[in-house]
Amino acid sequence: MSQAKNAIVTGSTSGIGLGIAEAFAGAGMNVVLNGFGDQAEIEQTRVRLEETHGVKVLYSAADMSKPGDIAEMVGNAKAALGRIDVLVNNAGIQHVAPIDEFPDEKWDAIIAINLSSAFHTTKAVLPDMKSQGWGRIINLASAHGLVASPFKSAYVAAKHGMLGMTKTVALEVAEQNITVNAICPGYVLTPLVEKQIPDTAKARGISEEEVIKTVMLGGQPTKKFVQTDELGALALFLCSDAAASITGTALPVDGGWTAQ
Ligand code: NAD
Repeated sequence: MSQAKNAIVTGSTSGIGLGIAEAFAGAGMNVVLNGFGDQAEIEQTRVRLEETHGVKVLYSAADMSKPGDIAEMVGNAKAALGRIDVLVNNAGIQHVAPIDEFPDEKWDAIIAINLSSAFHTTKAVLPDMKSQGWGRIINLASAHGLVASPFKSAYVAAKHGMLGMTKTVALEVAEQNITVNAICPGYVLTPLVEKQIPDTAKARGISEEEVIKTVMLGGQPTKKFVQTDELGALALFLCSDAAASITGTALPVDGGWTAQ
């Protein structure tokens, strides 16, 4: 990258988003962090990234289920950094239950946060990316964007939808040096996954240890969780000029899960 780029990474106060933000800051990019959590911890992370890497790191508390918050986050980021070069749509939540017991409000929240937020952020950043003639949009889908598992109807629907949107936007902006790709991780041991272990145990009638061994790592041939720094490295590569011809893809990083 010839000049310092500016990136927004949604849902970057923990897990994969934080891993991507770390990789970006480490490569000299300015980053807007977003997400929920303990305010003092978030501020510590923000300052640590700034001081370690000598870049600007901002924080937005925008709720990705609220289009008004999203517009404000993008507007503030542009005002503070001048322009947005890279957008990572990563914020996400999960709920595990059979569909006939699936709470309506969980369905709505998962579709809003895991899918519709990416529509609103993309719509907000694209006009400037087009006028700059350069941009990178990276959508965190999932192996569950490619295949299903029971009891995750909203999540699987949202992630399949994310792949459809990725392909569509990639085609719309293909001639403008803007690439749009989806990363499809297998299981990564983040708070999102830790929280679903008890519910999956209940839904399947097995122990929490069995959930990790058989449900999560059973289908992942490497028998290892994917690491957040591996996903950070891939996101960084997608931002490079070497990745200029990679667009409209769904890139599995799943230890072989979807090869089966
Ligand atoms: P995580 O729970 O560690 O992080 C989720 C982030 O999203 C946090 O920063 C959280 O504060 C933020 N967030 C949640 N609701 C939000 C909202 N309404 N507005 C703004 N921010 C919000 O989870 P993770 O595992 O790092 O997941 C990140 C993304 O990767 C998600 O889209 C998830 O579906 C996807 N993913 C995760 C895995 C995995 O195994 N962990 C696998 C495949 C895909």
